[in-house]
Amino acid sequence: MMSEKRWRGRRIVVVVVMLAGVAFVAPWRAGAQRQAEAQIAATRDSAQVEPGTMNVHWNEGAADCTKTSLPPLQVHRYNAQTYILRESLCSTFEAPFMYLLIGSRRAMLIDTGDVADAAQMPLEKTVMSLLPMSGLAKLRLLVVHTHRHLDHRAGDVQFTGLADVEVVGYDIASVRKFYQFDNWKDGIAEIDLGGRIVEAMATPGHNETEVSFYDRNTGLFFSGDFMMPARLLIDDPSADMDSAEKVAAFVRDRPVSYVLGGHIEMDAKGNLFPWESRYHPNEHVLQMTKEDLLALPGALRGFNGFYSVVQTKSGPFVMIDSMRILMIFGAGVILALVLIVWVIAWFVRRGKRKRMMRGMA
Ligand SMILES: [Zn+2]
Ligand SMILES: [Zn+2]
Repeated sequence: MMSEKRWRGRRIVVVVVMLAGVAFVAPWRAGAQRQAEAQIAATRDSAQVEPGTMNVHWNEGAADCTKTSLPPLQVHRYNAQTYILRESLCSTFEAPFMYLLIGSRRAMLIDTGDVADAAQMPLEKTVMSLLPMSGLAKLRLLVVHTHRHLDHRAGDVQFTGLADVEVVGYDIASVRKFYQFDNWKDGIAEIDLGGRIVEAMATPGHNETEVSFYDRNTGLFFSGDFMMPARLLIDDPSADMDSAEKVAAFVRDRPVSYVLGGHIEMDAKGNLFPWESRYHPNEHVLQMTKEDLLALPGALRGFNGFYSVVQTKSGPFVMIDSMRILMIFGAGVILALVLIVWVIAWFVRRGKRKRMMRGMA
């Protein structure tokens, strides 16, 4: 303290001002630099790939679906060779997204949604109407899945057995056999649609059969339930982290126009809609970015293993370990049952004691 007293006031003021300047300006400059870099990367990425539009307003469902008549399927034309389809919230609360990519030799449909009945959900009819002719017949179609959960493959039945349509199985053996990843964990398979190569990679974590797709032509990354503006349900956190790191490394030096997942369960501010809600007013947009994919490993590092909401500059990541939550729920139910039985037994015993006492009296 004695030596500080010898400092001249002016020097203290200068040092304080400099420190304050560094503290205030450095983060601002870092933030501005990050923003500028992201902007440059986005511009470079969109310049390198075939353009498309995400200017679409998805049907928001209804508070009372019995009082509205929404079309079961909404179709958005991203560009002439790429379509995004979504099942209506009033048809299924899952409201899953499906993607149709058209090449010169064949087309590929990613996922078939949550509704099997063609009378309720005219998926096959709609997809076929979007396919161009190839000679006298429609272009050949390949049907693949992001993973085996029913809300991504219930519509398979509308396509199985059709001529010129191949439906890839959804079980783990069929998935491995079809993509022939030389190494399941790190392998990348190329699907050639004719003038359009789609790369497929295993991204287990949400589910063991999860596969993500990257379309070189459009720079679109299809992330299924592995990454989306919704609850990220994680079956296997360690596998999910490996997948997130693998995907981040994959996209880092590739152009990514948009990241498109399987569902939307958030509003524009990042608040979750109630579970199984069929009404999504002011819904979050479907598209996410390369920055979001790059932020995923960091968000997963902040996951407590049960339920976490990790805020990033991309927005909140809501992560839930579905298996552990189920186990806790199961244990809670068992505990509640044991307590109920114990309380009933106690009352029965007390009643018996009282009757005995009365008998003795
Ligand atoms: Zn799923
Ligand atoms: Zn799903």
